[in-house]
Amino acid sequence: MILLKVDRVGAMLKRRVVDKVFAPIKAITVVPYQLCLSFLLLLAPMVEALEFTGVWQQGAMLVGQTLPSDRVVFDGRSVTVTPSGHFVAGLGRDVKGPVIVKVVRDGESQQFSYPVAQRSYNVQRVNGVPQRTVSSPSAKVLTRIRSEGKLVRQARADNDLRVDFLDGFIKPLEGPITGVYGSQRVYNGTPKNPHYGLDIARPTGTVVTAPAAGVVKLVHDDMYYSGGTLIVDHGYGLSSTFIHLSKILVKPGVRVNAGDALAEVGATGRATGPHLDWRVNWFNVRLDPALVLKYFPAKP
Ligand SMILES: [Zn+2]
Repeated sequence: MILLKVDRVGAMLKRRVVDKVFAPIKAITVVPYQLCLSFLLLLAPMVEALEFTGVWQQGAMLVGQTLPSDRVVFDGRSVTVTPSGHFVAGLGRDVKGPVIVKVVRDGESQQFSYPVAQRSYNVQRVNGVPQRTVSSPSAKVLTRIRSEGKLVRQARADNDLRVDFLDGFIKPLEGPITGVYGSQRVYNGTPKNPHYGLDIARPTGTVVTAPAAGVVKLVHDDMYYSGGTLIVDHGYGLSSTFIHLSKILVKPGVRVNAGDALAEVGATGRATGPHLDWRVNWFNVRLDPALVLKYFPAKP
């Protein structure tokens, strides 16, 4: 009887889930393995399949579906499963794969292996940024850069149990794309770190809106590289960062809805002209905002 109950809960979840989230998510099937004879116990998988929305590609965001009571370890990192059985995760720019996802159910562990499609990133030469943001920084500036980096890392480290990310994402700004995720950046002739954001060019003062609901985690008027910097947390480690802003319209701790005005476009920090640089993170893993928009569009 208990087993039947578990299956019914699973079926209920399936219906709820299909209603709530992006269409492609299908719930996993629970195999009533306890009913099998002992030799079948060895053959029958505990979790038949693990369903993901998203794409197994470098830079991708993924949302998995399992049972709320499961414990999930994604690529060595323990992830929190939402009350509806979802979990969010992501693949970094240079992940080689295969990525192992471990599911622990009723004390039994099962592993799934996923190959990761490799991408080739272009080289983008950016000339005309302030030379001070390209040359080796002085000790004093280095201290500043490090303390700002710490603030950003802390803001992205929270694991707020809000499922804002499940409602999908909209573009925070319409405009020409002038920079993409992953490209190798050469500033004023000097190779620097890859570019992790989606650059959208618009005049200074153009309003940037929230791509999804969330809570404002960090507001900083002038960081050395990123200038006016804003971080909005969409729950379970998924966050948006907006940089080079001229003005920030929201305060830390405030809750925002998708489409709310957040800030104004600027050219602060290491920038050649006014544009929004929008970044998406899963904790410290940098994801491609273009893939987030493509595979997790908000329902109209
Ligand atoms: Zn950028």
